[in-house]
Amino acid sequence: MAAVRDYKTVWANCLKTIKETLGKENEQLYKRWFEPIVPIQLEDNTLIIQVPSQFFYEWLEEHYVNLLKRTIRYELGPKGMLRYSIVMDTSIADEPLTTSLPSGGKQSTTNSPKDMPFNINSDNNRSIPNPFIVPGIKKLRIESQLNSACTLENFVEGDCNRLARSAGFAVAEAPGHTSFNPLMLYGGVGLGKTHLANAIGLKTKELHPELTILYVTSERFLQQYMEAGRNGTTNDFVNFYTLVDVLIVDDIQFWANKAQKTQEAFFQIFNHLHQQKKQIIITSDKSPAELSGLEPRLISRLKWGLSADLQVPDVDTRIAILKQKLANDGISMPENVIEYIAYNINTNIRELEGALVSLIAQSSLNHKQITLELAKQMIDKFVKSTSREITIEYIQKVVCDYFNLPVDSIQSRTRKREIVQARQLTMYFAKKMTKSSLAIIGLQCGNKDHATVLHACKTVSNLAETDKQFRYWVDDLEKRFKE
Ligand code: ADP
Ligand code: MG
Repeated sequence: MAAVRDYKTVWANCLKTIKETLGKENEQLYKRWFEPIVPIQLEDNTLIIQVPSQFFYEWLEEHYVNLLKRTIRYELGPKGMLRYSIVMDTSIADEPLTTSLPSGGKQSTTNSPKDMPFNINSDNNRSIPNPFIVPGIKKLRIESQLNSACTLENFVEGDCNRLARSAGFAVAEAPGHTSFNPLMLYGGVGLGKTHLANAIGLKTKELHPELTILYVTSERFLQQYMEAGRNGTTNDFVNFYTLVDVLIVDDIQFWANKAQKTQEAFFQIFNHLHQQKKQIIITSDKSPAELSGLEPRLISRLKWGLSADLQVPDVDTRIAILKQKLANDGISMPENVIEYIAYNINTNIRELEGALVSLIAQSSLNHKQITLELAKQMIDKFVKSTSREITIEYIQKVVCDYFNLPVDSIQSRTRKREIVQARQLTMYFAKKMTKSSLAIIGLQCGNKDHATVLHACKTVSNLAETDKQFRYWVDDLEKRFKE
């Protein structure tokens, strides 16, 4: 019966049922979590829906898997299945992960996402599974995954980034044919690595529309690699990447001290691309010389081309960046306020932007004029409250110190109760306080899968409700993270 129905009608019917089930009192929930879903295809008994982010998908799985399952079965019969296709919400990518609800009905939330390799028929009939393509949609074109907002034109030039910016421009003009291959951009957090890497990609695309450009974060690359390993499609994965003309890999330090096989696969891809005179652009928070924990032979390759650093911008550049953002948004602000922000936020550009956005929000929400006085109040608060970014490593350290355990015990395979508990708490806080996906949290906490992380989070919540001692630990730890 599914065959004669079109996917839009099926999903519209599902939405109706879901809306009714949730009721009037949950209308906001419905709007927030179901309206943004876009149906894309109906394949036999499987409806493919697109959700805006990995987080969104995990949230649905966590909270609404049963409702979705029931609804889909009601619409499509007992064999009805649902598959997600995930689009990244930031600058990133179509998510390579898709997941199916089983038709058997036993499992639900413990279902781990599955990559469905898909054969794309190119002109010469070669079949290449493309991890960026939603299964079921046939096309060869590789979307570049670039963020169109991060252009070279709006990347303000200053002493802090002049070398990197001009090398980037040279690369965009003649990708693969300068001595800047690989081009390695490095610098601290919020200093413009992602923006510049994107900008080079966009400029290359503009100058050479025929080239295939691909931006990928190292985290995504790692996830794809693991998926490919599970599905036995590692060769396809490597082949896919060797098709690209310009490959941009963001935040390569993420692989340090882990992901050895991923690094090997990348090494292979790197060599292939380099030999073919294809351009490689890499970003990292450290220079190749300081990057420890990566494969030495990979590090030595990174030194082949040019490494250019991004430094903290001086105050004039900070002012220029603020002015550009304001001009882009069509907002005017007194000169002395701009200067006040630029002089007082000297950590990085992300915080500079954050301060500006908060100030604008403050003034418009409270209908106050943007004055120096308002800026002062806000910046004082802002500077105090911008705490360090919490990482999973940091959470592990705090939890282990708290229970007097060695930090690496989280990684161990032991089932000792105190260590299992510490691991679960780490997962719980990592879910709560970082933006990492369940899969990545699991990987960092002893190579567990996303279902284990989900289970850990639930266990901690349950224990915190029923066990006084446990509640105390959770609260106490929470305080430490906020210090
Ligand atoms: P990183 O990747 O180094 O952590 P990002 O590229 O994400 O930093 O930059 C942080 C923010 O600062 C982004 O919103 C980016 O657009 C902005 N930014 C960074 N450098 C510049 C620049 N030179 N001109 C304008 N905006 C910039
Ligand atoms: Mg970045």
